Amino acid sequence: MGAAETATTSDAEAAVLKVAVDCPLRSLLDYLPPAGMHAPDLPPGARVRVPMGARSAVGVVVASAAGSSLAPARLRRVTALLDSTPLFDAALLELLKWTASYYHHPPGEVFAAALPAALRIGQAAVGQETWVALTEAGRAALAQGEPARAPRQRELLTRLAAAAAGSSAGELDAALQGWRTTARALAQRGWIDISQRDEPPAAVLPATHADAPHADVAHAHARAPTAVPTPSDAQSAAVAAVDAAAGGYGCFLLQGATGSGKTEVYLRLVMRALERGAGALVLVPEIGLTPQLLERFRSRLGVPIAVLHSGLTDGERLQAWRAARAGVARVVIGTRSAVFAPVQQLGLIVVDEEHDSSYKQQEGGCRYSARDLAVRRAQQAGVPVLLGSATPALESLYNAQLGRYHRLLLPRRADQAAAPRIALVDLRAHAVHAGLAGPVTQAIERHLATDGQVLVYLNRRGYAPTLLCTSCGWIAPCSECDARLTVHRSAAQLRCHYCGAVQPLPTRCGRCGFAVRPVGQGTERIAETLAAMFPSAPLARLDRDTVHSAADVEAVMHSLLDGSARILVGTQMVTKGHHFPGVSLVAVINADQGLFSADFRAAERLAQTIVQVAGRAGRGARAGEVLIQTEYPEHPLLQSLIHEGYEGFAAGALAERAEARWPPFGRLALLRASGTNATAALEFLRQARDCAGAHPAARLLGPVPASMARRAGRHHAQLLIEHAGRGELHRFIDQWLPQVEQLPAARRVRWALDVDPLDIQ
Ligand SMILES: [Zn+2]
Ligand SMILES: [Zn+2]
Repeated sequence: MGAAETATTSDAEAAVLKVAVDCPLRSLLDYLPPAGMHAPDLPPGARVRVPMGARSAVGVVVASAAGSSLAPARLRRVTALLDSTPLFDAALLELLKWTASYYHHPPGEVFAAALPAALRIGQAAVGQETWVALTEAGRAALAQGEPARAPRQRELLTRLAAAAAGSSAGELDAALQGWRTTARALAQRGWIDISQRDEPPAAVLPATHADAPHADVAHAHARAPTAVPTPSDAQSAAVAAVDAAAGGYGCFLLQGATGSGKTEVYLRLVMRALERGAGALVLVPEIGLTPQLLERFRSRLGVPIAVLHSGLTDGERLQAWRAARAGVARVVIGTRSAVFAPVQQLGLIVVDEEHDSSYKQQEGGCRYSARDLAVRRAQQAGVPVLLGSATPALESLYNAQLGRYHRLLLPRRADQAAAPRIALVDLRAHAVHAGLAGPVTQAIERHLATDGQVLVYLNRRGYAPTLLCTSCGWIAPCSECDARLTVHRSAAQLRCHYCGAVQPLPTRCGRCGFAVRPVGQGTERIAETLAAMFPSAPLARLDRDTVHSAADVEAVMHSLLDGSARILVGTQMVTKGHHFPGVSLVAVINADQGLFSADFRAAERLAQTIVQVAGRAGRGARAGEVLIQTEYPEHPLLQSLIHEGYEGFAAGALAERAEARWPPFGRLALLRASGTNATAALEFLRQARDCAGAHPAARLLGPVPASMARRAGRHHAQLLIEHAGRGELHRFIDQWLPQVEQLPAARRVRWALDVDPLDIQ
């Protein structure tokens, strides 16, 4: 209160503004309103320009308060109000505040992350256009026949006189070439007025988005009128259940196998929302935002859609954001950060493939889960949220068990092929040639002979994961990481998949000079092997080395659809959103990577991957066959998956987690640190652990070096914090983190807190 009491009269009347400024400080900053303005003139959610040290910064007004804990002399004034109306509505503002608090992240950085880059630096939230209008003097001049000797000037004046209020630069561009030079001359004489004004909302939607984000490939599909499928009873029931919750919060978990028609349920619910005059937000995994999906939404909904994903330029992102905020695009489809999109009159949120790890921000910035924030946003906005997956996260299944989520099941459709037959192939019991066991090779041959297509899944790109000297045992290492270099043969390179380092591929050992050879399998090598074994079956590859754009993915898709490819070799990319109706056999080359991981989530991820990849088989009329190569066929995870499906696996996995108090039965946060030498990060984490001594309720595990301790020249370590209850965990962090920040060792490392970490290795 001190500030208000001792300040001048006008300051005493004005409250203090709490502003989120993009900086690493963990609190909102206090400012006085600009001279002559009062706090209520600056609504929460509007941007302001503020002084920050010697520079100026852009912030968002979050709230106003009666006073400040800062000494009055230290309170500075907002220098400008940038928005006349708030950029964030009340529900979105609450979501951002909650995000900063839940993830213990600086609020200014959270608010900044929710805005396109152009708005972070203070550009107008509404698009501006140049507007040209005749002045009274210009009208008078024209009436007197001036300018007699400048036909171009006269042409422009005449044109402007014909338009009641003037013309936009865009209209003039289309009509009069070189008008700008002419206009400058006329403006100097005072005959026309050139100004900037708000772009009308209808002009906001970016042309590329009104058409397709990947316009180059969208036209590859003939735009035949989309037949609206008749919904199954289960689809109708799911739509009815969610629709009945409209106008209030409810979380629904839609579980259905690949091809069971989840997208149709989303589409119908979005249409219902639009019919009610509400908008909808649809989140999809990064890799699932395919041209086919967008085309399906566009053709069915028939309304402008704003698309937000990481591949956009800053300008495209700004346009999509503006289209959503102006209400021109009532539907927003986007990846992780679209959870903060300013959808107007939000009436529904959909999260497709809710188990997908790309919803969690893993590196840098605020490490939020867009799936969890979507649920939170729906709560705050009072609207239903639908989480869809064939393989829901164990957390989501548990929430359904507790009754927090309503579970909706979509069984296989009657017109769908029967569930694929899944079998294990024991790598110890069969001859293995170049990574392929005999029964797998025979199955490939059989399916190719009967007109089937084959999908070979291996989550390892490159030619081989290791380059080995057969004489001295030397293995090509990355000089910056604790990683082996991956052989990329066609590029004749060794590459580090952790830091991106590249070296030429040597033919001789770097230590003894003997010949080296690649060991193990990557997609490049499996593809080479299969091409040699089945020379008459054309082959396509889908991994990050061969596919760089949506158009590349589309080309691969087409080669399978039109039969010009018969075998597809791919990584994780094949499990996401792509439909391969001709595939009758799926071969999983190596399931064992996920079986013995130190990460308690590895089993869940492996099960999801196997079920998702198996879901690509047998989608036409024929039942598919799935073969999984493993050295551990008796492993309980694989056994439960094969005999009881994902459901059975999930039940067992949840029971294990309950026993170990892993999430969802306990709550985790991970303090990650990295330093330039092996000890700095560990020393910081040790000090952090020690200063937590007064809080016995939390269990602190570590610190330990990360599983890949050295990455890109930095040494990584981590400290795991575990607590049975979410509230207690956060109360602990609230007390502990300010102490951690003050540690002298904190200045020698980079560190970050990861709440609800997905990857704890
Ligand atoms: Zn050697
Ligand atoms: Zn490296």
